[in-house]
Amino acid sequence: MVPDEHAPLTPDWTCGTCGAQWPCEQKRDRLLSEYLTDRAMLSVYLGACLAAAAEDLHLSGSTSLQDRFLGWLPRRPRRF
Ligand SMILES: [Zn+2]
Repeated sequence: MVPDEHAPLTPDWTCGTCGAQWPCEQKRDRLLSEYLTDRAMLSVYLGACLAAAAEDLHLSGSTSLQDRFLGWLPRRPRRF
């Protein structure tokens, strides 16, 4: 694993780099830049992560989990 990858550790879904709940602040920033031109794909990716995490954490349908994975996304793509 790359040391600063901020990849999720399952089944706890904590960040493998900083130990925060995944997606952590750094990962969120990184995801926004990685998917800058394709925000729809980012939602699909996070939705898949959310589904996997809900299963691992036995929290399916949890709104707090939805907030954690999807609630931080800006409403509109950033413009520069
Ligand atoms: Zn992290």
